Amino acid sequence: MQLNFNGLRALVTGAGKGIGRDTVKALCKSGARVVAVSRTNEDLVSLSKECPGLEPMCVDLGDWEATEQALGSVGPVDLLVNNAAVALQQPFLEISKEVFDRSFNVNLRSVLQVSQIVARGMISQGVPGSIVNISSIAGLVSLPHLAVYCSTKGAMTMLTKVMALELGPHKIRVNSVNPTLVLTAMGQSVFENPEIAQRMKERHPQQKLAAEVQDVVNSILFLLSDCSASTTGSSILVDCGYLVS
Ligand code: NDP
Repeated sequence: MQLNFNGLRALVTGAGKGIGRDTVKALCKSGARVVAVSRTNEDLVSLSKECPGLEPMCVDLGDWEATEQALGSVGPVDLLVNNAAVALQQPFLEISKEVFDRSFNVNLRSVLQVSQIVARGMISQGVPGSIVNISSIAGLVSLPHLAVYCSTKGAMTMLTKVMALELGPHKIRVNSVNPTLVLTAMGQSVFENPEIAQRMKERHPQQKLAAEVQDVVNSILFLLSDCSASTTGSSILVDCGYLVS
């Protein structure tokens, strides 16, 4: 999908790998200046080589203070993609406090924090904006050994709606994209759970094992762009039909 983001500045979290990395590349190709936020510096170094002009920012978004320091003076941002997440698998009866806290801090709390920083900037500049939260079908259906991950994404559904409600008057739209399995590093690790692999095979009427990264990126770009100007508080399923039954 070729959209024009000339003159706009975007911030993408979890930019080092997978969906975030391809989103950064697509935004750069479409003319946006991009701030790429991720945890592993080597990923940002290699991404910068592919995308000249990129503004890399290395921070652990699970650390509130470090995030505040890194992003506090990020400057004007028009488009935000909250993509960073971890999918830590544990059977329900074995879930630890560490996994719970880490998952909620990275997957949900950082979305709140980064969105606050960016939205405050948009409001003070008096410019419109678009925020896309990367959720999952795991926010809508249960998946074995992913109780905490599913809970973070379920909570993200409501966070997206309330952000849309409160930021709407400031001309800031907030939506989510909810993919099914995508065979990135995260997707591969989830797919190693045979129960989940079986579900994907049974529940995708398209008879595809997984959605393509590019299909997810296309939906992100659509929601960031003015092509979706009347859409907020909503979500796009990129689910190969998982939710039809
Ligand atoms: P990957 O694991 O492939 O990439 C995630 C990226 O986020 C990595 O660059 C990772 O950096 C970064 N990241 C993770 N934690 C942090 C952190 N604390 N601070 C900064 N950066 C961090 O994941 P995907 O591309 O597959 O997933 C992207 C999004 O899509 C996530 O929100 C995920 O929940 C969602 N999704 C993915 C699906 C899938 O099957 N893959 C399905 C449905 C939704 P590092 O490697 O250095 O930690």
